[in-house]
Amino acid sequence: MFVSIPLLDLKAQYQAIKEEIDQAVFRVLESARFIFGPEMKTLEEEIAAYCGTRHAIGVANGTDALVLALRALNIGPGDEVITTPFTFFASAETVANVGAKPVFVDIDPLTLNIDVEKIEAKITARTKAIIAVHIFGQMANMDKVMALAQKYNLKVIEDAAQAIGAEYRGQKAGSYGNVGTFSFFPTKNLGAYGDGGMVVTSDDQVAEKIRMLRFHGCKTKYYHEEIGYNSRLDEIQAAILRVKLRYLDDWNAARRAKALVYDELLAPLAEAGKLLLPGRDPEAKHIYHLYVLRFTEREKIIKALNVKGIASGIYYPVPLHLQKAFAYLGYRPGDLPFAEEACSQALAVPCYPELTLKQQEEIVETIREACEE
Ligand SMILES: *Cc1c(COP(=O)(O)O)cnc(C)c1O
Repeated sequence: MFVSIPLLDLKAQYQAIKEEIDQAVFRVLESARFIFGPEMKTLEEEIAAYCGTRHAIGVANGTDALVLALRALNIGPGDEVITTPFTFFASAETVANVGAKPVFVDIDPLTLNIDVEKIEAKITARTKAIIAVHIFGQMANMDKVMALAQKYNLKVIEDAAQAIGAEYRGQKAGSYGNVGTFSFFPTKNLGAYGDGGMVVTSDDQVAEKIRMLRFHGCKTKYYHEEIGYNSRLDEIQAAILRVKLRYLDDWNAARRAKALVYDELLAPLAEAGKLLLPGRDPEAKHIYHLYVLRFTEREKIIKALNVKGIASGIYYPVPLHLQKAFAYLGYRPGDLPFAEEACSQALAVPCYPELTLKQQEEIVETIREACEE
């Protein structure tokens, strides 16, 4: 039977909150203030309060958020930045874009986050920072990351693009490091209807520098202190995000509940060795930006799901150390084996607030049949 289940249902989400969203958009249209207005300023205050940081700074997207964080921490040519190879390209692309060198550390095969036990061996005199990515919505071990940063006097950036609302030992993503970055790309847990991003920090000086850099390096208009960027979150997106922020905790809770259902329904297959369930760190509150299973014969599963119209997604097909763009760094296949293995096995299946139990049962049944083929 053809069932047609997307990886994420943004149409259903919009229908559920349409009235509030439409009102928010019209409010901006009627105000005729589209850039650097009250919506962004209020959203910044709301996000800072939500994350428990002193500052939040709206920017154009999650990639810019990382660039601005790196620049504000004075990271540039000659510096090394340690990060994970199992993430979206931007986590390391931005390091290269500010002139620094990304240094990849293999992942923990259970959580798929950076293996904190392997970071120390990669620290050199040139290491300036660690970018901890909270992959799929589960935070990296921030206690260990922060302890290493303190020991070696390193800065910490949390790439929390996939983890807004996630927690580690009860503390919110973005609030552990010197700087945290978020993306409001439409498919993220808090998604705009276009591009958007946010930087959070409790460091007053870093916040001031990011505010300056996002606005062409100005403190006062037309007086440029530094070479900066044009990176801003527009008023329509900010107004939409303010509506959605009020639902974020409910949506994240719903994702967690769906994940639990999958865990239970898929447990027999996991026990039979047909797949691996998402690995959890008991200290982390996972918000399931993606629910990612691992299969040794992934193609077979994708095909079976596809035949029924069930979407699935490979996150990520190629680890960053083996990307062509990073060939100049000199990594070889086999250098970071757990990241490479994850890339060959990982498969995200639909996990979003509007997903029904019936749909989940359909997905699980399809996976079961494909596994037993
Ligand atoms: C989405 C994402 C980004 C980039 O965000 P954009 O808003 O698309 O620029 C960076 N890092 C990670 C881990 C992401 O998932």
